[in-house]
Amino acid sequence: MITLLAEGPRSRAEIARELGMSATTVSNLVADLVASGAAVEQMSADGRRGRPAKTVSLVAAPGLVAGVDVGRTHLRAAVATRQGEVVAEREVALPEGHTGEQTVPVVLNLVRDLLQEASRPGGELVAVGVGLPGPVDGPDGTVGAGTILTGWAGFDVAGRLTEALGVPVVTDNDATLGMLAEARWGAAQGVADAAYVKISTGVGAGLLLGGRLHRGAGGTAGELGHTPLQPDGAVCRCGNRGCLETFTSVPAVLQMLRPTLGEDLTIEQVVAGAAAGDPPCRRMVEDVGRNLGRGIALLGNLVDPEVVVLGGPLVAAGEPFLTAVGASLRRSVIPSVARRLRVVPAALGARTEVLGALALALTSGPPPYAHLLD
Ligand SMILES: [Zn+2]
Repeated sequence: MITLLAEGPRSRAEIARELGMSATTVSNLVADLVASGAAVEQMSADGRRGRPAKTVSLVAAPGLVAGVDVGRTHLRAAVATRQGEVVAEREVALPEGHTGEQTVPVVLNLVRDLLQEASRPGGELVAVGVGLPGPVDGPDGTVGAGTILTGWAGFDVAGRLTEALGVPVVTDNDATLGMLAEARWGAAQGVADAAYVKISTGVGAGLLLGGRLHRGAGGTAGELGHTPLQPDGAVCRCGNRGCLETFTSVPAVLQMLRPTLGEDLTIEQVVAGAAAGDPPCRRMVEDVGRNLGRGIALLGNLVDPEVVVLGGPLVAAGEPFLTAVGASLRRSVIPSVARRLRVVPAALGARTEVLGALALALTSGPPPYAHLLD
C-alpha cells in the first residue's frame, strides 16, 4: 500500500481496486496510516467525474537511511531519503580476510562521509541495513559459521554500529537482500514467486515465496551453492564434497583457467574474453552456466518461480552465459515449471545488494512507515 501511495494520491476505492482488498480492510489501513502521521486524507482539487473525491497521500517522512553491502574484498554503501531516492553512494576496497573488528571503523567512516555529502535539512540518519555474505541468524543478526568471511562469524556488527551511530541497524543475507532489491526496483517487480541467484565468491540464493522473503528457521534458506552435485568432487569449504559452488563460483572459474591463462587472471578478463569469443573463456563461461542451470533446476522444481534473476560478475558475459543457464535449467526442470520460467540478469547490476540493504533499512526505521510496511 505504501508503494502504491508513493506513485501519487489515490481514493480509497482506487486503493481497494488496485490491491484487490475489501473496502473495510482499506479503510482500516488508511486509518492506521493517518493516525501514525504517515498519510493524510484530503479533498482532491479536481474531483473525477464532476464529483470532488477524498484522496489519500503520503506525508514525506524526514530523515535518511543507509545501506551497507559487505563483500569479500569490497564495501559498498549508499544513503537515501525515506522515499528511496539515493543521494550518495560509494564503494571502497577491503583487504582479503578482513574481520568485523577491522571493518567496522571503515563502515563508520564511509557512512559518515556519505551523510556529509548528502547533507540536507532534516537529513538525520534514522536506520541502517547491512548485507552480509552467509547465513544471517534472525534473533541476533550475526553471520553464521558458513560465511565466506570467517573473521565475521558471530560478530555483532549491528550492535557495534548501533552503539556508534545511535540508530537501529538490521542485518540480512546478501542474496536475500538482492532478491528484495530486484523485487522492489529491478527485474522481479510485480512477481510473487522468484529467486535471486548470486554467483560470486560463493553461490547463494534469495527466495521470494508468495510475495514474501523466505529466510528459513535459522536464516540458512537459499544456500544453493552447497547442493552436492558431484559425489567425488572437490572438498567444499562446508566440509561436503562436490557442492555446486566448488565448480561454478568465481574462485573455481579462475582456478580452472589460471594454469592456461596466467596466475594474474581476473574475472573481468574472463568475461571480456568470453564476449570476444576467446575459446577457453567462452567454453568456461558456458560450462559454468550449464552446471548452474542443473543446480538451479532443483530449486525450480521445489519453488516453481516465475523468474530467476542472476547476479554477480559472470552475468556481465551476457548471452553465452545466460543462454547456457537458461537452456540447462529448462532441460532439467519439470515441463510445467519450464513453460513459465524466465531467466534474466539482475537489473540493478553491482548495486543490487546495497540497494537491498537500503530497502531493509527503509522497512526497519522508526514510525511512521516501519510498522506498516510489508
Ligand atoms: Zn559446500
